[in-house]
Amino acid sequence: MIELSSKDVWRAVLGELELQVPKPSFETWLRETEGLNHDDSRFVVGVPTPFAVEWLELRMYQSIHRAVERVVRRPLDVQFQVKNQALPGPAETADASGIAEAGKGLEEREARPAHAYANRTRGFNQRYTFSSFVVGPGSQLAYSASRAVVDSPGEAYNPLFIYSGVGLGKTHLLHAIGHLCAEQGVSALYVTSEQFTNDFISAIRNRSTEEFRDYYRSAEVLLMDDVQFLSGKEQTHEGFFHTFNDLHTSGRQVVITSDRPPGELVLLQDRMRSRFEWGLIADIEPPDLETRMAILAFKAAQLGVKLADGIIELIAKRVQSNVRDLEGMLNQILAYDRIMNIPITYEAVSNLLDSRNSKPAKDSIAPESILERVATHYGMDTETLSGPRRTKEVASARQVAMYLLMYELELSPTQIGRMLGGRNHATVIHGAGKVNGDIQEGGPLRQDVLTIKEMIFS
Ligand code: ADP
Ligand code: MG
Repeated sequence: MIELSSKDVWRAVLGELELQVPKPSFETWLRETEGLNHDDSRFVVGVPTPFAVEWLELRMYQSIHRAVERVVRRPLDVQFQVKNQALPGPAETADASGIAEAGKGLEEREARPAHAYANRTRGFNQRYTFSSFVVGPGSQLAYSASRAVVDSPGEAYNPLFIYSGVGLGKTHLLHAIGHLCAEQGVSALYVTSEQFTNDFISAIRNRSTEEFRDYYRSAEVLLMDDVQFLSGKEQTHEGFFHTFNDLHTSGRQVVITSDRPPGELVLLQDRMRSRFEWGLIADIEPPDLETRMAILAFKAAQLGVKLADGIIELIAKRVQSNVRDLEGMLNQILAYDRIMNIPITYEAVSNLLDSRNSKPAKDSIAPESILERVATHYGMDTETLSGPRRTKEVASARQVAMYLLMYELELSPTQIGRMLGGRNHATVIHGAGKVNGDIQEGGPLRQDVLTIKEMIFS
């Protein structure tokens, strides 16, 4: 048997999992993982955060284990290990940006100190640079503004607020800004809203708010990703508000991304929202056909593969949603070629695209019809589902509805909460996540969800 590299094996496993696992889960927990190494008895997967390790172990071990064994064709144990995403791999150390401080991250991985942010790495993802960003009409403004910010931090557009749907390059641009800043000797700090929330909460708990403040003030450019995930807690918003004001009034640059414009960030306080509107608001639109083709050609070339124009056009025509999906499709095609020896012909690609797109369009399904189906399935009416009752049966049915609306229709937690009698988004995330976990583990809700889905989608 030929020996596959761990990377190849994992790429094939991801190809399989992508077809099985609900998309948001895949994006959140699997997209950034990689095959690190394997021997006769175990396969080691690199995962970005300790939290993701825990999640994958708890929720997805079975499916991942099965998929790995299918690919390597022998029994193996699977282990997850935190990799430091921001650290460049050995082959990439030629790129100078962000490395000086990146080394600090190494010890941090082992034992997470109380003030984790105190020595958090400031390295940036090597793959996300301005030169690897393919600009199209829909991303021109966000791209140019991002570059301008590095040229005159705190002056041109402050804050710069970038918003778009998933997979359209927000995180990529933030890292690109970070790289360029590092090159030009400007200190930049990238943080997800989740990290910020955690830092803030532990600063309060450990009475180290001073340190927290110093840390965030130390940056000339603060890059805050996915502000919609800033925890709903009032106090965290206060913390962010003050940090933001602090930086802004002292002339430092703030760049914020979000999945929606400031005006639609319902959980944000008004004063915060209007602060965001002081600067420049740039959205990124999904790429048009021509840009999608350019992106595919670029990514294939990066991977050292030349695809026929006809095939590039075929993929670009059929995968329209976002760049992440384009990349996913490309990786899958290359994995099939490399591992299963299915050559990249027009037919093979077309079949692969067919199998992926066999579901009916999500936007043709009314969210209300999901509530009705769920209610019918559990023998209750939709008013009960969205009402105040919390008995076990009702709560569980409600969570199934949350799950379907979030994972199948891809509505936002806020929208779902509103449909379900004004519940808050954290409740929705929790409820949907619970059902998702149950399904991943083959729990009792799995069959319910399958049955309901069959009624909805057929
Ligand atoms: P978002 O943060 O908006 O969800 P990401 O920045 O994570 O999206 O982008 C998803 C993937 O698509 C990344 O691998 C990124 O490199 C790639 N990508 C997105 N937009 C572009 C683009 N315009 N050119 C090249 N790659 C892109
Ligand atoms: Mg992102």
